[in-house]
Amino acid sequence: MRLIIFGPPGAGKGTQAVKISQEYKVLHISTGDILRASVKEGTELGKLAKTYMDKGELVPDNVIIGIIKERITTQDSQKGFLLDGFPRTIEQAEALEKMLNKEGQRIDSVISIEVDDEEIVKRITGRRVCEKCGSMYHIIFDPPTNMGYCNKCGGGLYQRDDDSEDVIRTRLQVYRRQTEPLKKFYKKVGILKRVDGLGTIDDVFERIEKILKGVA
Ligand code: ADP
Ligand code: AMP
Repeated sequence: MRLIIFGPPGAGKGTQAVKISQEYKVLHISTGDILRASVKEGTELGKLAKTYMDKGELVPDNVIIGIIKERITTQDSQKGFLLDGFPRTIEQAEALEKMLNKEGQRIDSVISIEVDDEEIVKRITGRRVCEKCGSMYHIIFDPPTNMGYCNKCGGGLYQRDDDSEDVIRTRLQVYRRQTEPLKKFYKKVGILKRVDGLGTIDDVFERIEKILKGVA
């Protein structure tokens, strides 16, 4: 099973991706997580990526395409994978198609989580991430048992630098201009599956499972 989980920032892609990858045993590849790990390690890639991420802009296509190429050719991606946060531009989508074609593979479904802007802002401003294991919480919608600490590993929770209100505005504009056109791209291919992203995390997951039953 090769999937893309698609949607605006804060739609719940990462949250659902974790559930899908657990349930269907597919590798979860999040470009945002890869970049944040590089920033934390202070690598050259991290230093470069941070200059774009802090402003809410996209990291250049050639950099991101290189990262994905490396990940989807590894042994553990052979059983399938779930791309989260990639592709974000038409150029990235075309590069992905080329990579997969070479291997005689293709994407089975693009699951598009549909959420309005008001909900996005609520979700992003309340998002908290574990500094140790990367688990995601929301201060109201999905709070940890001990405020400020991760349920799974006890690590401290932090707010992402790019989750401030002014950066969110830029990220939404970037999404509308550069990423949303991909829906048309995948609709043409006939693999776009729209999912209502409102409701609880479990409600949304149930809707996704219904779609995946036709794919898995
Ligand atoms: P994305 O990966 O699309 O940026 P996340 O999965 O990080 O989005 O979700 C953004 C925030 O919204 C997180 O704090 C998460 O806990 C919360 N969230 C995710 N899904 C839902 C939902 N269905 N209802 C309410 N909050 C949600
Ligand atoms: P995310 O965790 O998916 O919200 O991504 C956080 C930030 O990482 C984005 O705002 C971009 O700056 C960068 N990023 C993540 N994925 C990509 C991608 N596919 N293309 C370009 N930039 C990306």
